[in-house]
Amino acid sequence: MTVRLFDTYSRSVREFQPLDPPRVGLYACGLTVYDYAHIGNLRSYIFEDILRRVLEFNGFTVRHVVNITDVGHLVSDADVGEDKMEKGSRRSGRTAWEIAELYTKAFQEDFRNLNILEPVIWCRATDHIPEQIAFIACIEAKGFAYLTSDGLYFDTSKLQDYGRLARLDVEGLKAGSRVDMAEKRNVTDFALWKFSPRDQQRQMEWESPWGIGFPGWHIECSAMAAKYLGPFFDIHCGGEDHISVHHPNEIAQTQVCYGTNLANFWMHGYFLQLGQMKMAKSRGDFLRLQTLIDRDIDPLAYRYFCLNAHYRSRLNFGWEGLDGAATALERLRIASYEMGEAGTPNEAKVAEFREQVNNDLNMPRALAVTWELVKGDLPDATKKGTLLEFDKVLGLGLADWQPVREVLPEAILLLVEQRQDARAGKRWQEADALRDQIHAAGYEIEDAAEGPRVRRRM
Ligand code: AMP
Ligand code: ZN
Repeated sequence: MTVRLFDTYSRSVREFQPLDPPRVGLYACGLTVYDYAHIGNLRSYIFEDILRRVLEFNGFTVRHVVNITDVGHLVSDADVGEDKMEKGSRRSGRTAWEIAELYTKAFQEDFRNLNILEPVIWCRATDHIPEQIAFIACIEAKGFAYLTSDGLYFDTSKLQDYGRLARLDVEGLKAGSRVDMAEKRNVTDFALWKFSPRDQQRQMEWESPWGIGFPGWHIECSAMAAKYLGPFFDIHCGGEDHISVHHPNEIAQTQVCYGTNLANFWMHGYFLQLGQMKMAKSRGDFLRLQTLIDRDIDPLAYRYFCLNAHYRSRLNFGWEGLDGAATALERLRIASYEMGEAGTPNEAKVAEFREQVNNDLNMPRALAVTWELVKGDLPDATKKGTLLEFDKVLGLGLADWQPVREVLPEAILLLVEQRQDARAGKRWQEADALRDQIHAAGYEIEDAAEGPRVRRRM
């Protein structure tokens, strides 16, 4: 069965074939670590995790690379304003290096809490300055860079199809632009290397052939992706905001240096929003995963919440929606637990599930197939085996889940109640008969001071 994925570059769903089967190179733009990730950011990483799991479900081996942006992302995406890291440092009274460390660790902890598979490679921008300098030097040598008083810029007018990914109307942009161009030659030009301000020492700065400074935001991804996955690999991902600036710039840099489009598929996860507003770190009122945990919400309920929507549609966050997801997850866990030991999966059901996930990751439909299985009339062991197959993609940790307290079937609860009544009325024979009935159904009962304790018999 083939995997079909939406490729933003061609604006179409295309059949996915690895360039070098069974290996698949997958690069996901990582977090800018000047603050905690918000649950919007995490929706993008859940989407990418599902993508990886679906590829693995189809027998591919995925080399999943996630970078950490710890330098160079300016407050505005347009190369003006302060570096987010230096700003975060001022706000918190810690060094830029300390906050990078702190928020990277927290981000990785979010991955674990959401059951997102550990990337094969985590790479930090600041650990790859020589690679970025070499990449910039290559762009300069090919005649696509020019110097201004504050840095070295990429001349986008020299590339014929600059902005193709975004379907950018470069002429229209020029005409309508009110952006302060400073010394930029074209509105869409962007910094490859920025100089440290003359009057001030930055915390993060390096020597380079052009002067002391730091890399522009986009070069890190071109350089690290090429290093770990080669100059043309299978899939590059990010959130929808990257369609307009960051990814066109990554493509432009790589086209100049390697003559490729960097990736065969470009995939974008749509935003989580609060009302009509996108959730953004810069607004400061965002929700962290930890905020949910502090409210006693299982982080996997948020994962389930995200699976309810297709990755190419915006998702509105709401507490009722999240509660609904938490309840559904709890039901699924209990149902799975009560199925007991896993037997051989049902091939037809697995194929049905695969059809949905292979159809551009249709997780809402995949969840519907999951519930049909749970409510259907296959033997429990078959159901459980099939469900655990599905969970390789869903990632809800069903195999390991255990109820905090034993969850008792309704019928047993009723017998326990009747026995309590019989005991209260001193009808001992009846109470004993009920105990036997409970025992025969596979449960044992122990009378403790606070009432009867009932457990499944071992
Ligand atoms: P950043 O830390 O801004 O570099 O963003 C990290 C990742 O989160 C990028 O892939 C963004 O596209 C993505 N992202 C940012 N905001 C949201 C949001 N509200 N919903 C989903 N993804 C987002
Ligand atoms: Zn990137």
